Amino acid sequence: MQYISNDINETVDKTIIPIIKSLTEGIETDEEIAEKTGIKLNIVRKMLYKLYDLRIANYKRSKDPETQWFTYSWKFEENELISRIKKDSETELNELNEALNNEEQNMFFVCPYGHVRFDFDTAADPYYEFLCPACNEELEYQDNTEIIENLKKDIAIVEGNYNSFLEKIKNS
Ligand SMILES: [Zn+2]
Repeated sequence: MQYISNDINETVDKTIIPIIKSLTEGIETDEEIAEKTGIKLNIVRKMLYKLYDLRIANYKRSKDPETQWFTYSWKFEENELISRIKKDSETELNELNEALNNEEQNMFFVCPYGHVRFDFDTAADPYYEFLCPACNEELEYQDNTEIIENLKKDIAIVEGNYNSFLEKIKNS
């Protein structure tokens, strides 16, 4: 996993960021971007279409009256990217807060062999009667203090990242 994510980070650092930076500086064509960044033209094109698929880059096509060739002028959709990051962060925070609320409002019971984890209502259901449906072992009460602490830490991290992102937008 680490290896894969390093690979993705490298792609982002070495191609996506320089391409977006070129677009924000007003460089519009794939050839000019390739020239400016030193990234191969076919990779620049591939990345531009990837950004287009994600709707964070857009292009206008125009025909050169002399050569009859099409030129593509690319534009970075900064507002689209910002609203996307905002929406994703808010969704993630909502999910984490829901999970935290669920942990704080409920008691949990687990199979000692790790088969199931039920909240009180499910564990007490006559269908289960505090027995594991997989191995019939009696379910044990689980202290979820650590889970709650970890969720609170995650929420603080996501909130911190989100706030510094908002701060950066405000100051740019
Ligand atoms: Zn079990």
